Amino acid sequence: MNSKSDKNTSKHLGGTPPPRGRGWGRGLVLFPGSFDPFTLGHADIVRRALGLFDEIVIAVGYNEQKKGWLSVEERVATIKKLYAGEPRVTVESYTGLTVDFARECGATAIVRGIRTTADFEYEVQMADVNRQLTGIETVLLPASPQLASLSSSVVRELAHLGHDISKFLPA
Ligand code: ADP
Repeated sequence: MNSKSDKNTSKHLGGTPPPRGRGWGRGLVLFPGSFDPFTLGHADIVRRALGLFDEIVIAVGYNEQKKGWLSVEERVATIKKLYAGEPRVTVESYTGLTVDFARECGATAIVRGIRTTADFEYEVQMADVNRQLTGIETVLLPASPQLASLSSSVVRELAHLGHDISKFLPA
């Protein structure tokens, strides 16, 4: 390949890719979400992300204006307890822009799960904005089929109606 076509290829692909090894699939990944509550679906994303990255920070996002079902402190404490024996997982809370927190943590990437086409459209838009703001890429993992119908909002609804929700939550 001559140098002219090298340049063309690189331009076509959006520039020089990051060096292999310390870029894609390594380092620390941020998993942001509301986790109100943290479900088996979230735990599945954490497990799979640990196969791709060295470390994961589960980041419980909150908004002072919006009161959740569980308090942020409760959510963080529950998730911390779940991963107490896993040194590659840390749990934090944050408010404000996810990408700002991702940078603060030194994240290589953000990971999110997708269950539906609606999730997909929203996540692709967010991923694009976040990449344009900071260059941080988002890895989208498709939900495992057996967990694809599980959402925190369904679990909250069942709890309100007095159902036992324990089978949807990691123990
Ligand atoms: P947010 O309010 O930021 O969407 P959630 O706690 O609802 O926070 O979800 C956090 C992330 O986990 C999102 O990327 C969501 O798509 C993903 N997620 C939630 N439930 C599941 C599931 N059952 N399987 C796979 N991913 C899931």
